[in-house]
Amino acid sequence: MTSKKKKRNITAADRQAKSKNQSRCGLCGKTTNLTKTECCGNWICDDEDQYVMFSYARNSCSRNHRRYTLCGYHHVEGHAGDWKDCPQCREDIETEMYVYYGTNEYNFEKLENPPDYEPTKCSKCGVVIRLGTEGFTQSGDEYWCEACGAKEMEKIIRRTKASSRRPKGRG
Ligand SMILES: [Zn+2]
Ligand SMILES: [Zn+2]
Ligand SMILES: [Zn+2]
Ligand SMILES: [Zn+2]
Repeated sequence: MTSKKKKRNITAADRQAKSKNQSRCGLCGKTTNLTKTECCGNWICDDEDQYVMFSYARNSCSRNHRRYTLCGYHHVEGHAGDWKDCPQCREDIETEMYVYYGTNEYNFEKLENPPDYEPTKCSKCGVVIRLGTEGFTQSGDEYWCEACGAKEMEKIIRRTKASSRRPKGRG
């Protein structure tokens, strides 16, 4: 054992202790204005107040974790046990979204063996829609990509306009 080696070990341990004392958001790494998640007790940005109602923006770490992960869902729904092997979560959420919620960047811990799923395709043009991150319209059993959804909406609006163009009764 040389004294040189010993010194280096102490320095490494010191550095580790320092980074352990410094709490940081487990998602984005910020060190200020933190809170602990209710679901799993991890440090996270206390930034929910920055969310603008109905904006659907995904700029809040705590909101993202609560709304877009299985961990958050599992907790909000009051399921028992661990979210990673919760049969209720698996059953409640369609497989593609289940995998997305379990593996996206809003997780502290990711699903280790996510189940396979058939990619969702647009019922109109066949393009693959990533349900977790892309816009889409759901109509009954059908999924429409953003482009086809917009086209359909136009058709519906035109139809509604046409039917409301009936002559108005005079009087
Ligand atoms: Zn954060
Ligand atoms: Zn959590
Ligand atoms: Zn669950
Ligand atoms: Zn399409």
